[in-house]
Amino acid sequence: MAIFHEAIIIGGGPAGLTAGIYLMRAGIDALLLEKVILGGAPVNTWHIENYPGFPEGISGRELMERFAAHAKAFNLNIKEFARVEEVSQNGNKFILKTDEDIYEAKGIIVATGTESSKIGIPGEDRFIGRGISYCATCDGMFFKNLEVAVIGGGDAAVEEGLSLANIAKKVYVIHRRDNLRAQKILQERAFKNPKMEFLWNKRPIEFQGKDQIESIVLEDTKTGEHTDLKIDGVFVYVGSRPDVGFLGNLVDKDEAGFILTDENLATKTKGIFVAGDVRKKRLRQVSTAVGDGALAAVELERFILETR
Ligand SMILES: Cc1cc2nc3c(=O)[nH]c(=O)nc-3n(C[C@H](O)[C@H](O)[C@H](O)COP(=O)(O)OP(=O)(O)OC[C@H]3O[C@@H](n4cnc5c(N)ncnc54)[C@H](O)[C@@H]3O)c2cc1C
Repeated sequence: MAIFHEAIIIGGGPAGLTAGIYLMRAGIDALLLEKVILGGAPVNTWHIENYPGFPEGISGRELMERFAAHAKAFNLNIKEFARVEEVSQNGNKFILKTDEDIYEAKGIIVATGTESSKIGIPGEDRFIGRGISYCATCDGMFFKNLEVAVIGGGDAAVEEGLSLANIAKKVYVIHRRDNLRAQKILQERAFKNPKMEFLWNKRPIEFQGKDQIESIVLEDTKTGEHTDLKIDGVFVYVGSRPDVGFLGNLVDKDEAGFILTDENLATKTKGIFVAGDVRKKRLRQVSTAVGDGALAAVELERFILETR
């Protein structure tokens, strides 16, 4: 027997939890399905200092505990460890399949965020969990007083590099260009930090080691010269991609796989709205995910009320 809710939110990060708060306050019967635990990407973020209302900053985990508590205070139905594997349409209902259950809904909000991209070079898969990580907040403490490298030049790389500098003896930042994309305030802090060293115009081409990672082969992007960098750990921040194969052809995507929406976050399928990092947009942050969650919920509410 399928389990019916008027609205189903897929994904329990900032966008999904915000959508849940808005839908419950509007009197819509909503369920949120989350493939792991509530909180989304910020759960693995050491410190967030650009979310309004927290001038001292706040740990990503604590911020998301507050989001979750807020959604629960409005009695949002939540099912964790429920990964949506397939969505289809049957008349005016959507059918959602997880590995355990089948759900039905009048409308859905897709808020599934993105997943860390791999670099895709030899040795990467072999050393994941053996010195290669995509989450400094989760694994940084294993590298106390050791030498690590961060790969990437955006906000996440520099921010997480700074958090690693509190633990590790040395943090190399490896970037294929000669300047960073990260926000200026983060760059200034990183350049001042004596534990951080920038290796410009370098790209990793192979990870080497026996049981654990021991070194990275770097190629100079200008001269083509190869060098070996001895390290104890590597943290990869080279971007992220959505994973929305479960929607089949119900939505249109750009060439990188981000879902296309109109200005009200609707998709080509009536009743499917999209919020947060998973959609094509210019700025992927907690604040923009929250804004999307609110708008998608209000639009879905409107859609449901029209068909009640
Ligand atoms: C290292 C790092 C540092 C960052 N620092 C900051 C910062 O300082 N300030 C800031 O504002 N932003 C920061 N961000 C960005 C911020 O985390 C994201 O913009 C925000 O989390 C997006 O929210 P979301 O709800 O769209 O997606 P997410 O937070 O990614 O949540 C998506 C949720 O959907 C779930 N999900 C995925 N697929 C399925 C499925 N098939 N079924 C069920 N559930 C599914 C996931 O498990 C996840 O819980 C940072 C990101 C990273 C990676």
